[in-house]
Amino acid sequence: MYPTYVRGLPDGSERGHFLALDLGGTNFRVLLITLKGIDVEMKNKIFPISQELMHGEGTLLFDYIAECLEMFQREYNLMQDTLSLGFTFSFPCKQEGLTKARLVKWTKGFTCPGVENEDVVRLLNEAIARRGSSINIQCTALLNDTVGCLMSCAFLDHNSMVGVILGTGTNACYMEHLDKVLTWDGDFDEPKRVEQSENVQHSDAISRKVIINTEWGAFGDNGELDFIRTDLDHVVDKASLNPGKQIFEKMISGMYMGELVRLVLVKCARDELLFSGETSQDLETQGRFYTKYVSKLKRDEESEGYTNTKQVLDELGVEKYTMDDCRHVQYICSTISSRAAYLASAGIATLLNRVNLPNVTVAVDGSLYRFHPHFHRRMMEKTKELLDNGIQVSDLLLTCPSCDLSPVVGCNEVHLLRYI
Ligand code: ADP
Repeated sequence: MYPTYVRGLPDGSERGHFLALDLGGTNFRVLLITLKGIDVEMKNKIFPISQELMHGEGTLLFDYIAECLEMFQREYNLMQDTLSLGFTFSFPCKQEGLTKARLVKWTKGFTCPGVENEDVVRLLNEAIARRGSSINIQCTALLNDTVGCLMSCAFLDHNSMVGVILGTGTNACYMEHLDKVLTWDGDFDEPKRVEQSENVQHSDAISRKVIINTEWGAFGDNGELDFIRTDLDHVVDKASLNPGKQIFEKMISGMYMGELVRLVLVKCARDELLFSGETSQDLETQGRFYTKYVSKLKRDEESEGYTNTKQVLDELGVEKYTMDDCRHVQYICSTISSRAAYLASAGIATLLNRVNLPNVTVAVDGSLYRFHPHFHRRMMEKTKELLDNGIQVSDLLLTCPSCDLSPVVGCNEVHLLRYI
């Protein structure tokens, strides 16, 4: 767990133009954000990250980021202003301040040499400087996506205290009392605010606190999860770019879920329990069963005839399958995705029990959570079950996927906030 040096949450009174960089998974995004009270205007551009950049020298990656920033500034005619930049860098970092963070270890498929143990803000600033005076940007904060998710939700929902990501990887952050953070080396003063908004219900809670980046994806790296890991979890881990690392993440996140399903399907076929004992070249190929297929198959449940399941099996070149096979494939997807949702819930309930406040909103983002049709529901059920007695389910404050960002105060259902 790492203190983030973020000591307060936004209260909706923030104003101005800001740049944001988002690097940490499939895409790299540059955003121009204009805050004007409750209104937020966002312009964003997505830039692809090639395999060459994911594995090439770190300087090449940072030069590419600086080049994209310059293109963005030109496109939106921002060259004359010096804009503050927030850099969302979603890899485990040991922060030494708001603008100093050393990468501990690459995850999620990145392996660029020359970045681990280095200050990534310095690498970004040096890449910006290499472009000369054509670019006018000052990085004022580095954070990871969980903190970004929590901050964005807190801007509108002042009870947000926990941020969770369920995408390519998984991670969470939460607000902790400074006196419980034994590694805290910053000051213990109150965070300074221009003005304190009256609608911050946890104003006491944001003082003398800091957001902790739990890096929960690495839970299990010391064997804590060995009692529930299956043989196939070990296969996924061994074949990954970081064996022995990110064990919790490998049981939950989008980068690994499809592969787990594929391995179960292959095992069942070889044991003659599926597809008349036959597999296909695609089904035998690592990474070929995409996590988005799990969502697609799960949508079949309501409809008749397993149309989506058949389509995916056809795409994978599986020739001999029956309706029973389709049902079993569905069941395998359900089991693996429910396990993922339940494990994430165990983490969320632990953080909620620790925060121990009524009316806490959990901010959740990531494509796995957004697009899997049952992930939200499974998480609701399990989180409720795992909360300490003192914390009433109805005490959690709420917005749900269908409510988008509007908080539903007083709703008796528990929903997790989905940030769009
Ligand atoms: P990031 O890479 O920043 O985490 P996302 O939150 O968009 O970005 O997560 C992307 C991951 O989500 C993909 O790697 C994939 O594993 C998973 N994913 C994408 N689409 C779906 C879907 N329809 N259903 C479930 N998971 C998905």
